[in-house]
Amino acid sequence: MSFGKIQTIRKACPLCGGKIVVSALYQISYNYTVTKSGKLSKKYSVSSPGSMEVSIAACENAPDKCSAAWDADQFYIDEKDRFVDMRYGGKDDE
Ligand SMILES: [Zn+2]
Repeated sequence: MSFGKIQTIRKACPLCGGKIVVSALYQISYNYTVTKSGKLSKKYSVSSPGSMEVSIAACENAPDKCSAAWDADQFYIDEKDRFVDMRYGGKDDE
């Protein structure tokens, strides 16, 4: 008996059949310096580590018409760029 999460490859939303939208969230910093006058500079530099911090996903119809959504630990993209659902486990789309 396994308690592992069920992993299901999805091509569409398991609840309504809509498209699944994966959002890759990047961390970007806007860096302001405090000037000699003591005020925050209007200039800033942007630093971006460039690495992907986290991805989330949701149905294209969410949240209005559909409640399907995945947190970072509830799905992943496999080596073939397929969406693997670990939340709404069950039957495959195939
Ligand atoms: Zn949906």
